[in-house]
Amino acid sequence: MSFYDEIGKFNWSEVKEFIYSRNESDVLNVINKNTLSLEDFATLLSPAAESFLEPMAKEAHRITLQRFGKTIKIYIPMYVSNECVNSCVYCGFNVHNKFNRKTLTLDEVKRELEVIKKTGIKHILICSGEHPKKVSVDYLNEVVKLVRRDFSSIIIEVQPLDENEYRVLYNSGVDSLALYQETYNTDTYKEVHLGGKKTDYRYRLEAPERAAAAGLRTIGIGALMGLDDFRVEEFFVGLHARYLMRKFWKTHVTVSFPRIRDAEGHFKPKYLINDKNLVQSMLALRLFLHDVGLVISTREPAELRDKLIYLGVTQMSAGSKTNPGGYAAGEEEGKQFEVEDRRSAQEFIESVRKKGFDPVLKDWDSSFINAV
Ligand code: SF4
Repeated sequence: MSFYDEIGKFNWSEVKEFIYSRNESDVLNVINKNTLSLEDFATLLSPAAESFLEPMAKEAHRITLQRFGKTIKIYIPMYVSNECVNSCVYCGFNVHNKFNRKTLTLDEVKRELEVIKKTGIKHILICSGEHPKKVSVDYLNEVVKLVRRDFSSIIIEVQPLDENEYRVLYNSGVDSLALYQETYNTDTYKEVHLGGKKTDYRYRLEAPERAAAAGLRTIGIGALMGLDDFRVEEFFVGLHARYLMRKFWKTHVTVSFPRIRDAEGHFKPKYLINDKNLVQSMLALRLFLHDVGLVISTREPAELRDKLIYLGVTQMSAGSKTNPGGYAAGEEEGKQFEVEDRRSAQEFIESVRKKGFDPVLKDWDSSFINAV
């Protein structure tokens, strides 16, 4: 039994119909409850709930303070490769896009790390396109060995792997996974993933479980906002997060809300996701799952990120470059997407502090893994 079986019990159109049938009195009935059912969560994602964002925000803030305190965990991404064998219509790394592809050599990785180290951030996200030959488990393992000298928490955002492969990386020092399903709608999934291993919906969907089973302590999931109706999409994200939290109770689950950004290929999303939609998704999820981590990256503009700090977000990236070699060599070509918050890591950390929050640059040490 996996989440694939669980999601099979739900029908996309029926969930959508339910969400759009909710009215204001349904929302009022939910808003003061302490524990929310799946139906309650769907109600908070409805158009009717848009008039209640203020009371939802107050409650989300209260719960977040209670569970996480006034802290924002900061992480920094390092892209090691923009090579990819897949053809995702929304992504700059799509195999059909023509630009200079590059996978960093281990010396180049060292140079990137020298620059990143200076930010003081100890949580690093290793990102790459999906090219199992160029970015193999062996290659990743070598990169992880270099990274762990100076960073205490290593997150990977790479192609989905088998459980034993996750275990190899876990044993080398990787403690967290970020892997987004992009869309939980199987039809839409087929439409936007045109070639490569990523066309295998199920293999991707079950990867977070394989990683948790291999011992990783944090698992990040999410949908790429704009591919389908965000209300239904976020319902399935919440369902997935709840499933993982119940099945792997020792694992911390986080949810990201990436909105499609301009990239090579200039894909135009079918659905436009405005700030209100993003905020509603975050708030509904916080009220549904009190302990889930909520992640906002530099895809979002500085002004919005500053406001979201008060609404339940617990993790944010800073000073991001989305191309391999972006920090040390200052190269601009070959980005996955354009970042919107262009503040330096230091500027962002300072702005978190000014808001009275504690920017957490280190909250984990991989030696804990060996200690147990
Ligand atoms: S989304 Fe990932 S798998 Fe798809 S083209 Fe981009 S890098 Fe490759």
